[in-house]
Amino acid sequence: MRPDRPQQRPGGRRPVAGGGGHVARKRFGQNFLVDLGVIDEIVRAINPKPGQALVEIGPGLGALTNPVVERSEKLTVIELDRDLAARLRKREELTVVESDVLKVDFAALAAQAGQKLRVIGNLPYNISSPILFHLLPVAEHVIDQHFMLQKEVVDRMVASPGCKDYGRLSVMLQWRYDLACVVDVPPASFDPPPKVDSAVVRMTPWAQPEAVDVQVLEKMVAVAFSQRRKILRHTLGAWMAERGLEGGFDLQRRAEEVPVADYLALARRAAPTS
Ligand code: SAM
Repeated sequence: MRPDRPQQRPGGRRPVAGGGGHVARKRFGQNFLVDLGVIDEIVRAINPKPGQALVEIGPGLGALTNPVVERSEKLTVIELDRDLAARLRKREELTVVESDVLKVDFAALAAQAGQKLRVIGNLPYNISSPILFHLLPVAEHVIDQHFMLQKEVVDRMVASPGCKDYGRLSVMLQWRYDLACVVDVPPASFDPPPKVDSAVVRMTPWAQPEAVDVQVLEKMVAVAFSQRRKILRHTLGAWMAERGLEGGFDLQRRAEEVPVADYLALARRAAPTS
C-alpha cells in the first residue's frame, strides 16, 4: 500500500510522494519510507510506550516519527537537514536536535531524560557503520536500538561463525549486543527506492558484557580477518607472539571459524581489564 508517485521534474529530480514538495537529498542518504504496511510492521517491532525515552535518528518526513509519537506521546529527533528540522520544530510533541548524529552525546541525552534510551531510525546508509560505532561506547545508556540498514550489513551483523558473512562487524557488535533481524524491506517500500535490499535489526545491549579493552579487541579482530581464508597461525599467530601469548588458542582455524567468546577470551589475555 503506497501513495502514487508525483510526476518527475525536468532534470530527474521530483518531489517525494506525500513530502509537501521536498526533493530527496542524496548526500543525506534520503530514501523515505512510504509503504504503510512496512511502516506498521516496523512500529509494531519497536512497540513504543508512553514514558519511554525514545530517540529517532533521521526522522526525515516523519514516516516512523508520526506513528511512533502517536504511541509514545513524546519523542526526541535528530535531523541534519535544516529544512526538515525546521518543519519538525513546529510540532510540540517533538524535541528536535538539529545536528549531525555523529556529534550527538547520547550519554548526555540519557542523563537529561533520567533513564536509558530507546534509539530508532531508518539510517542514512552512507554513514550507518560510523553511527553503529558511535553508539557502541554508550550502550550502557541504551535499552535497545531498532535500525533500518542495508540488508547486507544486517546479514554481517547477525552472522554466526562459519558463515561467509561472519567478520569484524559480527564480532565487534555481538560482543556488546544481542542482535536479531526483525523485518525485511524491499527497495519498492521507499521513495526514492535504494538500489539494495534493506532490513531492520534489533540491538539489545547485554546487561553484563565481557569486560574487554575495546581497542585491543578491535585491533586483534582486524588482524585475524586481514586474510580470512588463511589459517590464523599466519596472521594472529604473529600478533600473539609479539605479546608473549603462547598456546590456549587454536591457531589452526580460519578467522571465520572462531566463535566470539574465543576472541573475547584472547583479548582479555592480551589486556586484562580486571
Ligand atoms: N526516517 C525517514 C523515513 O524513514 O522515511 C527518513 C530516513 S532517510 C533514510 C535518513 C534521514 O537521516 C534523512 O532524514 C536525512 O536527512 C537524515 N540524516 C542524514 N545524515 C544525517 C546525520 N549525519 N545526522 C542526522 N541525520 C541525518
